[in-house]
Amino acid sequence: MQVIEKRFEPVRNYIRGQFQDSDSKVLNVVTPLTGETISTVPLSGRGELDDAVAAAASAFPAWSEMTLKERTQVFFRYRELLVRDRDELAEIVHIENGKTMSESLAEVDKSIELTEFACSMPQIVTGEFMEVSKGVECRVERKPIGVVSFIAPFNFPFMVPHWTVPNALVLGNCMVLKPSEIVPISAFRMAQLFEEAGLPDGVFNIVNGGQEIVEEICDHPEIEAVAFVGSTRVARIVYRRATSNLKRCVALGGAKNHLIVLPDAHEEMTATNVVASMSGCAGQRCMAAASMVGVGNVDHIISRMITVAKSIRPGEELGAVISEAARGRIEQYIAEAEAAGAKVLLDGRGARVEGSEGGFYVGPTIIDHVTPDMAIAREEVFGPVIVIIRAENLDEAIDLENRSDYGNAAAVFTQSGGLAREVINRANAGMIGVNIGVPVPREPYSFGGWNESKFGVCDITGESSIEFWTKLKKTTTKWNPDAWTNWMS
Ligand code: NAD
Repeated sequence: MQVIEKRFEPVRNYIRGQFQDSDSKVLNVVTPLTGETISTVPLSGRGELDDAVAAAASAFPAWSEMTLKERTQVFFRYRELLVRDRDELAEIVHIENGKTMSESLAEVDKSIELTEFACSMPQIVTGEFMEVSKGVECRVERKPIGVVSFIAPFNFPFMVPHWTVPNALVLGNCMVLKPSEIVPISAFRMAQLFEEAGLPDGVFNIVNGGQEIVEEICDHPEIEAVAFVGSTRVARIVYRRATSNLKRCVALGGAKNHLIVLPDAHEEMTATNVVASMSGCAGQRCMAAASMVGVGNVDHIISRMITVAKSIRPGEELGAVISEAARGRIEQYIAEAEAAGAKVLLDGRGARVEGSEGGFYVGPTIIDHVTPDMAIAREEVFGPVIVIIRAENLDEAIDLENRSDYGNAAAVFTQSGGLAREVINRANAGMIGVNIGVPVPREPYSFGGWNESKFGVCDITGESSIEFWTKLKKTTTKWNPDAWTNWMS
């Protein structure tokens, strides 16, 4: 039985090291576990953004002039606070997002890992040096960009901000974070922990809000770079608007990940991985398995998947989806596919959790004989639903994957190294799994998809993000009067 007694203080903006009340209208924050209101969040306006940007701009000279090693010390302390408060932070994620407690703990653990990567920057961001001609040296250093912003989605309220905030700050930038207005409490807590870790005032600021404040961020003349993670629809808007204002921008969008299952795949490993990928975080992750392409006869694997998926109980191993509207949308996709002739092998519609009747649950859903033209095969459903599309051979399966507008992740399940290599070579996606349903690259490797799953050049994490958060200064030096002169010097 899930009784939510917890209420949180109203979420406030965090500017210049102060939690600030806002005059703007507020939105209720609702827990998907029960549908109850747990807090409120302000929908801030331009004045509050101006204040946060001014705070970041005035913190920038001192913060950026510190050595990388000095800045890193704050993040070592911050990492210890994350470890100390791991359970409490996970509980916030669990309540505001609706994912299970074990998924929430994993989200905090990943945030710790991301902070550890930021702590390793002094070993990675060392600059470059070369004697380019006799007695003449070229040196390349990475410098921070200035005031930057990150706009976050609802599905990982704690981890996704950790994709960007520690790296951007440790590299010397000052930031304005705009959390998802649906799940703003985790970020609020993040600010409290940064304060405790001794981050100087103004280096990290939070301005809460929705569409209006995102547009203001894209237009603000003093913000140099905007990173965004969310749906493709909004990623497109943000990328166009920020770059048209001559800002650096990377905007990660939605996904429709294809998992190609060959008949020789290991039955148990494949069934458990595919089901975990489609149902983990209630299917609300951009790395979730959305389409399984079954090549030839894979009926034995599908029947094992049904058994595995049936054992996943909403409210226990499966969390809630984010809202009543999301549940309605997911159930509608299932109904439309069924009406169009697809076969629902396991139906999660109408899931109810005893004691949490107001919660927004959809059970694991497996739909067979879906055709590529159906909306459920093309569009992002973002729920614990997998569609199965049948293909006669591997070429046909790869062709199906290639035709997706998205390109976040793709995976192949097989015991054949040669066939796996074929999929790796030909899949049209940025992150590939071989016998892995959620192929998230770990730092220092970077996270980012292709096509409509990402607009912009760099990835959002790992070494690629260092490029995004810095600019290069190139210095050429000669002290020795006897040094060679060449046609350039
Ligand atoms: P969303 O696009 O609705 O919202 C993301 C952010 O944009 C929020 O902060 C929101 O306030 C703001 N926003 C919403 N509508 C806007 C508008 N019209 N104009 C300007 N700003 C607007 O995304 P979401 O529902 O919060 O998150 C789920 C989506 O994020 C899914 O599509 C998922 O695949 C995607 N996602 C992608 C990745 C990735 O790495 N590619 C990671 C996590 C989530």
